[in-house]
Amino acid sequence: MSPASSTSSSPAHPSGPAVMWFRRDLRLADNPALLEACASGGDDGVLPLFVLDPALWGPAGPSRRSHLVDSLAALDASLRSRRTRLSVVEGDPVREVVAAAREVGAREVHVAADFGPYGAQRDARVEEALAEHDVVLVRTGSPYAVGPGRVTKPDGTPYQVFTPFSKAWASHGWRAPVDAPTGLHGLELASTVDLPEVELPEGLTLPPAGEKAAAERWATYVADHVGDYADERDRPDLDTTSRMSVHLKYGEIHPRTMLADLGRSAGQGRTTYRSELAWREFYADVLHHRPETARDYLKPEYARMPYDEPGDAFDAWREGRTGFPVVDAGMRQLRAVGWMHNRVRMINASFLVKDLHVEWQHGARHFLHWLVDGDLASNQHGWQWTAGSGTDASPFFRVFNPTGQGRKFDPRGEYVRRWVPELRDLPDGADPHEPTPEQREAVGYPAAIVDHKAERVEALDRWETIR
Ligand SMILES: Cc1cc2nc3c(=O)[nH]c(=O)nc-3n(C[C@H](O)[C@H](O)[C@H](O)COP(=O)(O)OP(=O)(O)OC[C@H]3O[C@@H](n4cnc5c(N)ncnc54)[C@H](O)[C@@H]3O)c2cc1C
Repeated sequence: MSPASSTSSSPAHPSGPAVMWFRRDLRLADNPALLEACASGGDDGVLPLFVLDPALWGPAGPSRRSHLVDSLAALDASLRSRRTRLSVVEGDPVREVVAAAREVGAREVHVAADFGPYGAQRDARVEEALAEHDVVLVRTGSPYAVGPGRVTKPDGTPYQVFTPFSKAWASHGWRAPVDAPTGLHGLELASTVDLPEVELPEGLTLPPAGEKAAAERWATYVADHVGDYADERDRPDLDTTSRMSVHLKYGEIHPRTMLADLGRSAGQGRTTYRSELAWREFYADVLHHRPETARDYLKPEYARMPYDEPGDAFDAWREGRTGFPVVDAGMRQLRAVGWMHNRVRMINASFLVKDLHVEWQHGARHFLHWLVDGDLASNQHGWQWTAGSGTDASPFFRVFNPTGQGRKFDPRGEYVRRWVPELRDLPDGADPHEPTPEQREAVGYPAAIVDHKAERVEALDRWETIR
């Protein structure tokens, strides 16, 4: 096993207090940066710090804001059980982190490295500002089992295709999880802010947040479901995927912990699950190398394809009233629980780009607004993959048929009935994935807003213009 994701740049620990600046790592267990902070601060103490950054808070939708606040509250409760607390401040991290470090007299500020486009730049600015006060920013680990940029082809260039990346990623290996710190002598700031209150829109309920919730969910999943993962992961009606994406997003659990648990026994379910975690790491790697792809086409020629401006059809899509049951079920699930099944995310992304001819960025923005697991790398590249413009993308000519996909992956129509209540009133024998016009009218479900066959041809015609 090779050295994994540590990017620590601290040669030796100076004596004196330290800061642990939490960001996407809201946990005490398996947190190498926190252990480093504790080793550095020793008897002089560690300040557990979180900065509410308006640049991140502003664009976050209600789901992510609410989960973040709940997760911070859970982290604070864990720290309080160790007779300290989380100091929360609000503002530009460049100013706030420097001020916090100076207030407690810290020589080092410890973080897990952030590889996202904004986070990496922010950290560089904070590092520079700290250096002016002789304080060092120490990066240890990251939100990934293998830090982005570490897995490369033999010639040192990044992988463009998932399968060879995932093989190289697996043979690179990762470190074993580490325990929570045993001693944590906590420091506190004199002046902090209360966590904001987040009011959820009516009808939106979210899963429990925090390290304990993540560990419980994962333990149950590994015990009860992972064995069937390979067979069931594409079935939105069975609802047996792990729902760990939200906990991974906020670092309430580290993927290394999950990989260690998966590694203890074999089986197709575990192998497939490991591979899905590798997709998360692959997309982080792609975004690390091509940060502009958070907004721009990874394959630039796709920007030249003719698209339609988002209009009434886009609104119907966002509100789950396109008349395609599986599309509408997904969009309503998104607004009800801040999450959507992966297969349905793909169907919906394909529908927006290839049936409604709207650019992927509009859909990606809507997803990020509502998804509680909204993650720039996985979301933007999940969209680009489906839109045909991404790394290793599904070929553009493979257009998902929403009705056929629904019948295949929700064979009894349980998923669409769960999220589109009108369909529960269909008579026995009706096809829940394609009710007749009379049946639609009788239950108050809209007619299809487009003719899928015609729009498929239209999409391929548009594609011809850039081939
Ligand atoms: C258009 C589109 C948008 C997406 N947006 C996001 C997003 O914002 N945040 C996000 O975490 N995932 C996103 N995904 C990937 C995937 O849909 C979710 O990770 C998954 O549905 C989360 O549910 P789960 O935890 O039950 O997944 P499981 O099936 O239990 O998978 C286990 C874990 O593997 C990872 N994973 C699984 N599939 C993928 C994938 N295709 N790409 C990257 N990682 C994956 C996730 O971390 C997930 O938690 C998107 C996919 C598409 C097609």
